[in-house]
Amino acid sequence: MAEQGLLVVLSAPSGCGKTTICRRVMANLPGLRFSVSHTTRGPRSGEKEGREYFFVDQPQFQALCDQTPSGFLEWAEVHGNYYGTAREGVENQQAMGLDVILDIDVQGARQVRQAAAAVTVFIAPPSLTELERRLRGRGTEDAGTVALRLANAEQEMQAAREYDYLIVNDVLDEAVESLRSILIAERLRHRRTLVGKRAL
Ligand code: ADP
Ligand code: 5GP
Repeated sequence: MAEQGLLVVLSAPSGCGKTTICRRVMANLPGLRFSVSHTTRGPRSGEKEGREYFFVDQPQFQALCDQTPSGFLEWAEVHGNYYGTAREGVENQQAMGLDVILDIDVQGARQVRQAAAAVTVFIAPPSLTELERRLRGRGTEDAGTVALRLANAEQEMQAAREYDYLIVNDVLDEAVESLRSILIAERLRHRRTLVGKRAL
């Protein structure tokens, strides 16, 4: 049987560059899978069902929540929409020995820490001014949504100390290399633990 893969939680204020970093790391580190969440948020232009998210309405989201055990490993209301990580997909991929990346908010990260062993990484912007520039520059949200996400950013940053690692996404290449290094090191630590258990 394959060794159980790692569960990796990534959180960051919206617009910080988490998706960009994650895609770059996944492109050059084999054995990683991105957990596609369910959300009640509408798709942005260019987003595809089943690639960025599974787009569902509130009753569909609620039905998954109400399953016993819950269909979600964690879920939360973020910036006025619901988001959740389907339990089954994550568990199946870990069982195949794949490392699974969850891109989830700070509330979801707290739930995952309670439920499972996870490596947690917080990505911060170099400043709030730069965060605003990136969020506006991305051009995917209207002005009201940008304002809401910026207002939430300061509060989210307070949670950074709850994470195992902090990466400041200033120079993109350096942030990508930092995440890649964390994953490589955590794989070695995980393997050492497994070998230790077997030796006993
Ligand atoms: P998130 O997934 O955290 O919401 P994105 O990955 O969509 O953020 O990035 C938001 C915007 O910031 C994108 O336009 C992206 O190209 C840009 N960006 C990401 N990292 C950097 C960086 N280090 N320097 C400058 N711009 C960046
Ligand atoms: P966006 O709408 O920009 O894609 O995501 C907004 C926020 O929701 C981000 O902070 C992202 O990490 C978070 N998010 C995405 N999927 C999930 C999920 O399944 N659970 C939780 N708790 N947060 C999520």
